[in-house]
Amino acid sequence: MSMNTQGRVTSPEASTFINVETVSGNKGLAQRELLIFEVGTPRRSGVDFPDIKGTKTRLGGMERESEIGLPGLSEPEVMRHYVRLSQKNFAIDLGVYPLGSCTMKHNPRLNEKMARLPGFADIHPLQPQSTVQGALELIDELADWICKLTGMPAVAMSPKAGAHGEMCGMMAIRAALDAKGADQKRRVLVPESAHGTNPATAVQCGFSIDSIPATDDGRVDMDALKAKLSDDVAGIMLTNPNTCGLFERDIIEIAKLIHGVGGYFYCDGANFNALVGRVRPGDLGIDAMHLNLHKTFSTPHGGGGPGSGPTVLSDALAPFAPVPYVVKKGGTYSLVENTDGSESFGRMTAFHGQMGMFTRALSYMLSHGSDGLKQATEDAVLNANYVQASLSDVMSPAYGGVCMHEALFDDSFLAGTGVDTLDFAKAMIDEGYHPMTMYFPLVVHGAMLIEPTESESKAELDRFIAVMRSLALKAKAGETEMFKQAPVHAPLRRLDETRAARKPVLRWRAETE
Ligand SMILES: *Cc1c(COP(=O)(O)O)cnc(C)c1O
Repeated sequence: MSMNTQGRVTSPEASTFINVETVSGNKGLAQRELLIFEVGTPRRSGVDFPDIKGTKTRLGGMERESEIGLPGLSEPEVMRHYVRLSQKNFAIDLGVYPLGSCTMKHNPRLNEKMARLPGFADIHPLQPQSTVQGALELIDELADWICKLTGMPAVAMSPKAGAHGEMCGMMAIRAALDAKGADQKRRVLVPESAHGTNPATAVQCGFSIDSIPATDDGRVDMDALKAKLSDDVAGIMLTNPNTCGLFERDIIEIAKLIHGVGGYFYCDGANFNALVGRVRPGDLGIDAMHLNLHKTFSTPHGGGGPGSGPTVLSDALAPFAPVPYVVKKGGTYSLVENTDGSESFGRMTAFHGQMGMFTRALSYMLSHGSDGLKQATEDAVLNANYVQASLSDVMSPAYGGVCMHEALFDDSFLAGTGVDTLDFAKAMIDEGYHPMTMYFPLVVHGAMLIEPTESESKAELDRFIAVMRSLALKAKAGETEMFKQAPVHAPLRRLDETRAARKPVLRWRAETE
């Protein structure tokens, strides 16, 4: 190896490195990390205990005779292992995370501070209710905000995720149909642009699915819907704004049609972040809708925390709501825990729901106020339209016109380049961006669904747009090989995804086993 006059290292090996220029200048620094079992040796430990002498065992012959099989590491090795692992997580705190439908918005630190208050964080669900009045009041106040924002009379707080909320709503619908003796009503209509969890939930609750096609502009085909209406229809599960990022403009008529055959209207409200403060679902004729506190109301999700899916219910469905729920009598809060003498369909979860997420969501609502929540909605929609408009000359928007909170592109701009949606997403990783949602919704070929959220500044959006433009132009300029190799800056490069899905290795085994 020798230094040339410019001070650059030249060596025969240097030329064997693939050196791909990135547009953003982002390059991975993440270090490769082995499994903790592979790093440690059983005899090493973070502390040094002297051998115990002269003490008689009190285990009565129950002592372990073989190795326990845990890894042994020193304290610095443990620290490095977990810090390196933490660096492998991409997070909203690291960069733009445009995963469509997932609403990866900033999680305000004020929420975290509130959730850590001992009166909320250090309590136990089985504590006497007289000692947790503040926590019950918080649940009640959050429920009140949710009812006001949605324009609905009741809310079940216990569902622990969006899909769990769907289950709550569909179980309430099932209970309401059973109470009427409407045994023939077992068919649920599900538009093609619904989220995948919708049909799964309906089937789980004992219904059959009937799919409704989308129109060329990405909405429910009303003629097809009307043709499917009959006495056996239990209801519809519709996502609004739908997974194409579009508002279902016929929603009021859809509600009327469904009610006209004695069915119920379930609306998937995971995208409520596009509506808060502008539209009240209760005014649209909805019977049940879940909210994702972990999307719309900024509580962390994915690797960052559990979900929470409170489900609002119309007057028709409210009597069937699950227990427990909070009631207030003469200044005292209590939880209704049993179903005796009521029509409640029962209990969905051990306790009352996700207390930490309730605290964060209420903190978000109170710190924004009703005007701030409306502003967040408007900014989210504006940001998505800015992305769509800025990329529409080099990429291909799936539908014309304005979008709601997410911008949807198809893969027609890549036609003839040899680059597909997956390759494009991989190239984004080299630029330091988490890929957008891909190949979903299914109604759009090679879909790329981008949800910037209101968290991103114009400068941040401009950087993202510049990178996306540049990648689109590179694809069109025939730099196909770069896309096929990507990512080259991620520690494990391009993974064999088919093998990972078909033959996952989920358990570490010692080589001697
Ligand atoms: C995220 C999402 C869901 C599911 O929510 P989970 O909390 O992941 O169960 C359902 N529908 C839509 C439209 C979503 O975006």
